[in-house]
Amino acid sequence: MSDQTLGSLVETAPPKGQNILERISTVLSPHDGPHPLHAPEIDGNAWDYVKDCLDTGWVSSVGKWVDRFEDMITQTTGARHAIATVNGTAALHAALYAAGVRPGDEVLVPSFTFVATANAIHYCGATPHFVECEAQSLGLDPAALDQYLDMTLTCRDGQFVNRHTDAPVRAIVPVHCYGHPVNMELLRGIVARYNLTLIEDAAESLGSFIGDCHTGRFGRAGVLSFNGNKTITTGGGGAIITDDELFARRLRHLTTTARAGDGTELIHDAVGFNYRMPNLNAALGCAQLETLDSKLKSKQILAARYADALEGLEGVSTVTHPKWGRSNYWLNAVLFETQQARNAAFSELNEAGYQCRAVWTPLHHMPMYCDNPRMGLSVTEDLSARGLLLPSGAGLPLSEASSSTDR
Ligand SMILES: *Cc1c(COP(=O)(O)O)cnc(C)c1O
Repeated sequence: MSDQTLGSLVETAPPKGQNILERISTVLSPHDGPHPLHAPEIDGNAWDYVKDCLDTGWVSSVGKWVDRFEDMITQTTGARHAIATVNGTAALHAALYAAGVRPGDEVLVPSFTFVATANAIHYCGATPHFVECEAQSLGLDPAALDQYLDMTLTCRDGQFVNRHTDAPVRAIVPVHCYGHPVNMELLRGIVARYNLTLIEDAAESLGSFIGDCHTGRFGRAGVLSFNGNKTITTGGGGAIITDDELFARRLRHLTTTARAGDGTELIHDAVGFNYRMPNLNAALGCAQLETLDSKLKSKQILAARYADALEGLEGVSTVTHPKWGRSNYWLNAVLFETQQARNAAFSELNEAGYQCRAVWTPLHHMPMYCDNPRMGLSVTEDLSARGLLLPSGAGLPLSEASSSTDR
């Protein structure tokens, strides 16, 4: 408080950005070179496992590492089945397609997400219908959605349709944004009431739970990503998790070009996709999954250090896990009071070697999605203008803790 009094006496008080820089540099020492937003950490058995693929020649889409990787995913998430894919976008596309999303359908999806979520819907010929998010988790807002659907949908022959477009509203794809779980307990009621197919975009939330339930396990299927910037990586890769055995079998079939028969002849009994993860990538993934717990722990510590360092800093608030779930803290987001303050901090931190990035630009601001159906998105627009992402990789070198909250 005495600092504040002092500050107000000085005519040219330092801008807010300078303050955040000083605070952040108590967490990550500025002398260690630039701090990337989220760099992959290749460690553990990665070299041995990948070398095994190279030595044996099993590098492509069949091999023991794919099976092992899928087993490890089921163990990590608790899901009965996991189907590894070439990337998370392909996993989303396959899951939506296998769940029956077809041309002319609408699919509810937040505007505040990575473009892949909406693209996967578009690949099915369906229309992304954008819904609002809330400030606590940055994820879909079930309360606002409930009100909106009540006004917007009507039931025709057992199928809910958009009363303005007449299109069937088939599915919903919540996104666990930056690892923070969406309020699934509330959302589930809405999903049931409007008979929606629930496919979770859990691309960012490996290791995030609500109670004992891993994100991605609340509906028909969940989708993970192992892109280079995610919590663990396979170079590029994704997975679909589901408890539904028939659905899992259909997905395995669809993602391996719908191959049928006993292998004597090349027979395909549907138009499938070449979406299976190669063995080479799965080998890396197995090594990465072995280190998941330690990576998650490092991320918890980093998030706590950021929250501690930024506490009490005027005009800045940290986004922490929502009260209903546990976050993997994939990326640490902070909110400024204005877009101007956010942009100033962005420049200042980046120049000082802290690689930051603005949070998602709303998808309804992008040219291909600007005319899509949508509800009021004022919270989305506000958060998008004020949010900044801080360096968040598990391997970032923390400075010596000067605070008592460090562990
Ligand atoms: C990373 C990501 C995906 C999938 O991305 P890929 O790069 O295709 O693995 C999908 N949705 C969200 C929200 C993501 O962050």
